[in-house]
Amino acid sequence: MGAGPVGGTLACRLASAGVSVALIDQAVLPPMENPAFDGRAYAIAAGSRTLLEDAGLWDVLDVPPNPILDIRVSDGRIGRPPSRLHLHFDHREAGGDPRPFGWMVEARSLRKALNARFPAQAGLHLFAPAKAAVERSDDGALVRIEDGPVIACQLVVAAEGRNSPLREQAGIPVTRIPYGQTAIVCAVSHEYPHHGLALEHFLPAGPFAALPMGPSADAEPGGAPHVSAIVWTERTKDAAAFMALDDGRFAREAARRLGPHLGAIRAVGRRWSYNLSAMIAHRYADTRLALAGDAAHGIHPIAGQGLNLGFRDGIALADLIVEAVRNNADVGGKALLTQYQRMRQPDNLLMFAMTDGIDRLFSTDRRMVRAVRDLGINAVDRLGPMKRMFMRRAMGVTAPPGS
Ligand SMILES: Cc1cc2nc3c(=O)[nH]c(=O)nc-3n(C[C@H](O)[C@H](O)[C@H](O)COP(=O)(O)OP(=O)(O)OC[C@H]3O[C@@H](n4cnc5c(N)ncnc54)[C@H](O)[C@@H]3O)c2cc1C
Repeated sequence: MGAGPVGGTLACRLASAGVSVALIDQAVLPPMENPAFDGRAYAIAAGSRTLLEDAGLWDVLDVPPNPILDIRVSDGRIGRPPSRLHLHFDHREAGGDPRPFGWMVEARSLRKALNARFPAQAGLHLFAPAKAAVERSDDGALVRIEDGPVIACQLVVAAEGRNSPLREQAGIPVTRIPYGQTAIVCAVSHEYPHHGLALEHFLPAGPFAALPMGPSADAEPGGAPHVSAIVWTERTKDAAAFMALDDGRFAREAARRLGPHLGAIRAVGRRWSYNLSAMIAHRYADTRLALAGDAAHGIHPIAGQGLNLGFRDGIALADLIVEAVRNNADVGGKALLTQYQRMRQPDNLLMFAMTDGIDRLFSTDRRMVRAVRDLGINAVDRLGPMKRMFMRRAMGVTAPPGS
């Protein structure tokens, strides 16, 4: 249930492994493809790429993903140079074969690849837009599609996003944290190349990230050779005023937060805004039901890891299901669901706590806190093993080869 990036990718992955899947979304799929440049992009960690590859989506992305080669984390104040104490992660220091930390994938490009794949994938039956009612029991589940068939299945996956009706129907409790922050999301074109550098600049109102995208033919007339995606967090009470600025003033405000390293910047494409909150489900499973992606957890976008966690849910669930099918075992049985929760809950809880903690630690301008966190940043920068641990986690790879 849910043909968003998590549900859609999982369905393609399962169907391409020979598992019969019905994919249901309440929304109409084609209008999700915006023909114009929209500037939203996902930072896809190295670990998530394998799921997109296995689902047959990676090679058909119409805009090539742009590698993230370096990550720079710094503490700062608006209009002033960043603190000299910063963290710099170079992908060549992560251990093992040097490979990028991840790739910037245009949201529009992933959406198009999914929409094209659904009808072409054997074994995948798409119902969208469609309303469905689900009945679950120990023996199996029935999915009644309004004006459509009744599907008998062994497992229902709720990939319906944060307000998952199936999660609520199952009575699974959630913990929510409002942040009082809004993320302004857009793309900017800039004078100088970004060289694959992702920048996370912590400011008192919230983090400001600039993420390296590939050249874009349609970001602005004549094309744009140097483009970055911006995720600019502000206090919600101030965000509307920034959203309403004209392009020139908006770009000047963004430049004050970004710093001078990319030269002159221009805002391109649309601006989007998202009210930020975190949410985590206390359980990921119920009778014949598994939660995946934002239906199970929603985190602060501070580290660009929300979808990556969902993809890691997808990898775990797909591996378990494919193995169960191969062994003629029960795909929606208690054993599989317990194992799924065991595989995914600790990782998701850790990232939930880390992103929440980092946001709290950095979204303050108190002098003592600033001094201590700058020292912390500097200490991590000097501690090789700790730095490598952070890098591997950002890549979505937990066990570094040979360490
Ligand atoms: C500002 C911002 C920046 C972000 N940047 C990044 C990033 O760089 N990297 C990253 O990894 N993550 C990022 N994220 C997080 C990422 O966007 C989400 O984690 C991701 O969209 C979750 O995907 P999903 O498929 O689980 O849910 P959704 O994208 O919410 O999709 C849910 C789908 O379910 C459908 N649906 C809903 N209800 C029903 C129903 N009752 N029946 C059937 N279908 C239903 C919906 O129509 C939709 O298609 C960011 C988030 C924000 C807010």
